[in-house]
Amino acid sequence: MNRFVFNTIPMIIKKILGERIFRVFQRGIDYFFYSNHPLVQIFYVLVAVGGYLVYLYFGFLELFENNPFVSHLDTAIGSTMALFCFYSFFQACRYRPGIINKENNKVYVNEFKEYYDNVVYNKDNECKTCNIIKPARSKHCRVCNVCVSRFDHHCVWIRQCVGQKNYKYFVKFIITHAILCDYGAYLGFRCIWGIIVKEKLLEAQFRDPVTKQRLQATWGIIAQYLFYKNTMYIFIVILCIVMGIALTFFALYHLYMIGQDTTTNEKMKRSDFLNFFDEETERLQKQLKDAKSPEDIKQVNTKLEQVKQCQNRIIPIKQIGIWKGLKRVFNESDELDQKIKINNKKKQ
Ligand SMILES: [Zn+2]
Ligand SMILES: [Zn+2]
Repeated sequence: MNRFVFNTIPMIIKKILGERIFRVFQRGIDYFFYSNHPLVQIFYVLVAVGGYLVYLYFGFLELFENNPFVSHLDTAIGSTMALFCFYSFFQACRYRPGIINKENNKVYVNEFKEYYDNVVYNKDNECKTCNIIKPARSKHCRVCNVCVSRFDHHCVWIRQCVGQKNYKYFVKFIITHAILCDYGAYLGFRCIWGIIVKEKLLEAQFRDPVTKQRLQATWGIIAQYLFYKNTMYIFIVILCIVMGIALTFFALYHLYMIGQDTTTNEKMKRSDFLNFFDEETERLQKQLKDAKSPEDIKQVNTKLEQVKQCQNRIIPIKQIGIWKGLKRVFNESDELDQKIKINNKKKQ
């Protein structure tokens, strides 16, 4: 899969575009994916603030007037939620993820010392770029060029990594946005249903613009009529539905991981190791079947035992539950700051 994405696809594009244009294209890709640029943040502001203003103008101020199923209480709730979302975005961008440096290195190593299993996380592994001992569960981010404590992933929306100290802001960011989009979609349905009832569209007759024939209302005709009359509002409701579904799944996925005390990075790393050990076991078992001499059999059996030992050393996932996990996520950054402060005082 990796080879297909990183070798085959670029080769095909290179053939289609030619050498020179391909190089410009590649530089663009490198800039977009591997440099710390603000393009996605600008895009967020345009879509989120722009989307809210469109909803406000065409929905809250226009279609919510005299609508039997929505009121300006919904306007107030929706607008307050939007403000919460913008604030959560600002917080997620502002607070740092827990960057490890020489001064705080010891605190972070101690914090996660029980996670060194010498398979996924090796004790005394160094980050050559930052010149520090890598704490378990940390990772050096290529885009930010720093080591981040309990690294989750690098998030282009907030233009920084998501790690131990800003994970709570990131979780708040996605949950508030998921709720806002879901609420926007729910209000959209109520508002549109209000228009259908108020204008008695279910009993109405429509005239075909081409044949001038009178047609009895069907759901298809009503949908076309509504979209034609309220294009901007319905467009923004569809955006809310799509984003609402995606963000709700994303938020639930993070809550699920919080309940297991794990991160996106760890989930991938763990499954890479486990897959590797499974493949290795399968390969050795085949070898064992083909082995003839007692010496060969002994050698393969030793290797199999070593693979099994490594596999068993990987720390199993802890089911701590969402509630306990959330409490930890929301409290630990302050506790960590406290530990770093004490450590600094000791040094002085
Ligand atoms: Zn590093
Ligand atoms: Zn990063």
